[in-house]
Formats: sequence, C-alpha cells, structure tokens
Amino acid sequence: MRTSGLRFRDPSAGLARFADDILVGCPACAGPASVRADPDADRPDATWLRRRLICAGCGHTAEWDAPRHGAGRLLPHLTGPDDPYFGLPLWLRTDVRRHVLWAYNARHLTLLEQYVTAELRERGPAVSCCSMTMIEQLPAWMKAAKHRPDLLRAIHRLQDRLL
Ligand SMILES: [Zn+2]
Repeated sequence: MRTSGLRFRDPSAGLARFADDILVGCPACAGPASVRADPDADRPDATWLRRRLICAGCGHTAEWDAPRHGAGRLLPHLTGPDDPYFGLPLWLRTDVRRHVLWAYNARHLTLLEQYVTAELRERGPAVSCCSMTMIEQLPAWMKAAKHRPDLLRAIHRLQDRLL
C-alpha cells in the first residue's frame, strides 16, 4: 500500500502487536520464513512461550521454547534487526545511512510508511503508564524530516521483498 497521507495518528499498538508473525531469513535456504505462535500450543496463554519457524519455500521448521527461570519463563525483549526468538536476521531489514530500518511483517512496514509519509503526527490514545507504542519507540533518526526521502526509498525496497 503506497500512501500519501498527510495526517498520522498513532494507533497505540505496542511492538508485541506485530510480533505474531515475524518474517525472517530462513537458515536453510535463505528465503523468507515465518516465526509464529506454535499452532500446537496447548493453552491460549502459551502462545508467547512457544514459537515455531516455518519456511514455505524449503519446508524447514524450528521450535523455540521460552527458557525456564526459577518458577517462571523468560520472554525475549522485542526488538530488531534480528528476530527476538531465533536471533535470525529479519527478512525486512535494510541499511539507511548508518542505521538499519527493520520491520516484522507487512502490517508493521505499512504503519512505518504511513508514519514517515505524514506531515502531521499525532499521538494516539494513551495505552498504559508503563508501556510504549511501537511508534513511540522509534529512534530519533526515523523521526527526522531530513531522512524522509531516504526512509521512503528504504521502505519501498522492503516492500519489493514482499512481492
Ligand atoms: Zn527455507
């Protein structure tokens, strides 16, 4: 989706809202593979504890289990430009000047495009006292107007990787 929106309103979605489907480079064939909640997870609350990598291109699969820590389990800090579970390079990542632009999936990339394109950026409804939205977490270089042309070119490069 190519947008030329003037006004952007933060939908107040945290990065976790984009982590349900993470595109990575397949370690077996280097094509695009998908990291999702384990479809065989026995309980709904287990979806964050087990992840499965599936490559539609070569059939490679891998499992990730949240490591145990005392009585609990450790969940990774959600970030990039590698996927937080397997540590594989995200499929949607590219250099912009001396930085790396990355996105988990097409939805994530579309929201970044809408943000970068917008002339006017508005905050969304507050989510909670202690969590930031994906947009609020963006680094300063992505918010700078002077980087807009480079960022849009990079976003379009990544969109081409989704075709
Ligand atoms: Zn593969």
